[in-house]
Amino acid sequence: MRIGIIGGGIAGLAAAYELEKARSAGEPVEYTLFEAGPRLGGSIASEIVNGAVLERGPDSFLTEKPAAAELCRELGLGGELIPSNDAQRKTCIVVCNRLVPLPDGLMFLVPTRLVPTALTRLFSLRTKIRMGLELLHPLRPAQGDEPVAALVERHYGAEAVDRLADPLLSGIYGGDAAELSAQAVLPRLVEMERKYGSLTRGMLAAHRQMRASARAASQFTKNPHAGKRAPAAIFTSLRGGMQQMVDAIAAWLDPASIRLNAPVSALRKADEGWQVESGGKAHGFDGIVVAAQAWAAGVLLGEADPDLAADLAAIPYSSSITVNLVYDESRIGALPEGFGFLVPASEGRAMLACTFVHRKFLGRTPPGKAVLRAFLGGMRNEALLAEPDDALIARVRRELSEILGARVLPAGVEPGHAQVSRWRRAMAQYAVGHKERMARISARVAALPGLRLAGNAYDGIGIPDCVRLGRQAARELAAPGTKAAASAR
Ligand SMILES: Cc1cc2nc3c(=O)[nH]c(=O)nc-3n(C[C@H](O)[C@H](O)[C@H](O)COP(=O)(O)OP(=O)(O)OC[C@H]3O[C@@H](n4cnc5c(N)ncnc54)[C@H](O)[C@@H]3O)c2cc1C
Repeated sequence: MRIGIIGGGIAGLAAAYELEKARSAGEPVEYTLFEAGPRLGGSIASEIVNGAVLERGPDSFLTEKPAAAELCRELGLGGELIPSNDAQRKTCIVVCNRLVPLPDGLMFLVPTRLVPTALTRLFSLRTKIRMGLELLHPLRPAQGDEPVAALVERHYGAEAVDRLADPLLSGIYGGDAAELSAQAVLPRLVEMERKYGSLTRGMLAAHRQMRASARAASQFTKNPHAGKRAPAAIFTSLRGGMQQMVDAIAAWLDPASIRLNAPVSALRKADEGWQVESGGKAHGFDGIVVAAQAWAAGVLLGEADPDLAADLAAIPYSSSITVNLVYDESRIGALPEGFGFLVPASEGRAMLACTFVHRKFLGRTPPGKAVLRAFLGGMRNEALLAEPDDALIARVRRELSEILGARVLPAGVEPGHAQVSRWRRAMAQYAVGHKERMARISARVAALPGLRLAGNAYDGIGIPDCVRLGRQAARELAAPGTKAAASAR
């Protein structure tokens, strides 16, 4: 069984890992991974500069999704996994140039605690009253998809979209709440609205249920502490940066199976299997994992299935920029508490978010240094990608100084190190209709034996989902009898 993998981001690497595992266990599997660029990892790229871990792309993954940590453990990186420093987890929103902490009790955009919601400076009195009255929201029967903004506005009003939903989603997806699909991005809330009417009542019921299951577990095990374990940190990362994961997979793979600087220029369905063209040569495979971005997959699959290609090409992507600034703590003032802040679009700034990196993960920045990481661009401000590095750094320093105050970040204090990274069309956007589009894509892929898709465009934007999809794609193709099973579909 010969399998080709197109794309050496984390999804393609996870597929290759799975195939190498099968190969080293003596299964008759061979694989070749084609990566267009000069390095593996795709959006994952970290560097250590003067002892500080600087993440150009993702800095961590969600702990509650286990696939990425599991893969790290299999790779022997279990001891390198580090939790986010949740004791200091607090996120602020910029409102009229001031930092306002998110109120306690906020779950998936849903306020669940009365006092913090009543006291927060994040919302006007009108929005707070609306949030209270939301408990009376009527049931809503299942309907078609809609933008996240419409769902949130119906329940909590326009200010909750502007100060909560939009900044949170642009901080995660580089996306726009007016475009992103409620069904794909917030399926739990859609389901709660159908079942309870009020999202707050739904969230409180889910919370009660969770507590009851934890209590039941402690009675069942006769262990009073069962279910009382300290909650796991919300984010997990690697001591030496996310790149450790990429490097460990690369070290595990057979070097002869990896082709760098090897863009695939064509992909054809052959009588038996698939033919890949790269570097002017044709390579035959029984199965193919397309782990390139959906827009690239769309170009490659145009000949095999134009409808599939059109659906893939129609998945929107956002572009983004990260700017890492390393400061001597002695030269700047005390940063506000927490992991950083998010900036609503209504503030009219280039920055979408800023992380205080040295706070979020301890032990990755030398003592006495502060690392501030700004996130810019997104769906609304792609033009920024054309700005030169110096202009972007100056812009971020200016905005940080205005938001944090000149006493905290005096305009004259230069960062000891500044690094700009551009990510063009890197983050898929689950726009309204994503689920229906995915159903069409899955049906058409199922009709093409030996083809699998993996990556952030399909069933989860984060690293754990990409790992899960990559491994699953490889497992399905390499499973004994797959050829026959796939042909029969
Ligand atoms: C700035 C930023 C911050 C992020 N932060 C987080 C975070 O904190 N946590 C989290 O979980 N996720 C985060 N994400 C999302 C996450 O990093 C990505 O979803 C994930 O890394 C995507 O992996 P992938 O393998 O699907 O795609 P990619 O990493 O995009 O890899 C696709 C690869 O395919 C290659 N390719 C394309 N066309 C071809 C071709 N024709 N032939 C050969 N190769 C080709 C490309 O060169 C690329 O290397 C972030 C993303 C960005 C950009």
